[in-house]
Amino acid sequence: MIVDSWIESLRPAGSKRSGKRDLIVNVFLRQQGHLTADDLVELIGREDQRISRATIYRTLQWMVDAGIARKVDFGEGRFRFEHSYRHPRHFHLICKTCNRSFEFLSSDIETLIEEVAAARGFAQRQSVLQIHGECDACRTGRPPLADGGVTELLFARDALRIAIATERSGLDFYSRAAKLTKDARGRRVFEKLAEEEKEHLGTLEKRYRELLEQDPELESRPTFLFFKGAANGLFAAGAEQLSKGVNDREALMIGIKCERGSHRFFKRYGERFEDSEGKKIFLEFADEERVHLELLIREYRSLLERQQRSGKIERRTPRRPRVNA
Ligand SMILES: [Zn+2]
Ligand SMILES: [Zn+2]
Repeated sequence: MIVDSWIESLRPAGSKRSGKRDLIVNVFLRQQGHLTADDLVELIGREDQRISRATIYRTLQWMVDAGIARKVDFGEGRFRFEHSYRHPRHFHLICKTCNRSFEFLSSDIETLIEEVAAARGFAQRQSVLQIHGECDACRTGRPPLADGGVTELLFARDALRIAIATERSGLDFYSRAAKLTKDARGRRVFEKLAEEEKEHLGTLEKRYRELLEQDPELESRPTFLFFKGAANGLFAAGAEQLSKGVNDREALMIGIKCERGSHRFFKRYGERFEDSEGKKIFLEFADEERVHLELLIREYRSLLERQQRSGKIERRTPRRPRVNA
């Protein structure tokens, strides 16, 4: 099992496997929420009453030191613990009425924290963001949303939603660009990219459907990943520019700008995330966008050469786009 080999890799070299410790770790990793040490003592007691409280406490501390568990403090006068296996670092909303906690992630906030720390010459090790208050269910008496899902699935769901929206927006952009471009070769490039976007869109949607099969309530669970600006905004802006009327070179240039922005967006955020399916989705998408970027740049250069040879080049020499992201 993957979890086992992961834990094995964290075990100090030469240390022996302990049956008790393995049981405690396995029970802990099966839990989803934020457990107090007492919650864990109770859960372990159901499996094996011979394991002492002291052993459980020691093992919890070992898990924290080994990076298997994260200690969280919701201001209740005691710590809680959550596992970190394929569970990205995140922030919490804490309801003071029902004591439930809800997880979310926002790379906008993380970026800001990094900027503040850098500006103050501060080497940040850990940052905690908590929103305390009253949850929607407690406030309105409405039944709670299907929360408490597996964070990894929520993260993957939201990452896929963002990638799908970007892909759709890219497809729209290239379809329009293909219609507008007069240069035959440039038009074929846009058509090819539109085809590719369509194919990727199909792949991403299939992946999304497969994800939903793992949890029938996944679609209705609250948003986990918050972004102020997403990459699909770039393509939407690009499509808007196209509609104002552009020449072939300008169309390619707009495409380059969109793909570069999209590549950067997914790479930057993907690299920031901890190991997870959501991270994988972002980084794979960043790679695809880079391939598109390079294709457009090659086309732009060859269009420029063709135009120069035929003497159609305008006096104003456009800036040569850089491949570098
Ligand atoms: Zn509540
Ligand atoms: Zn949490």
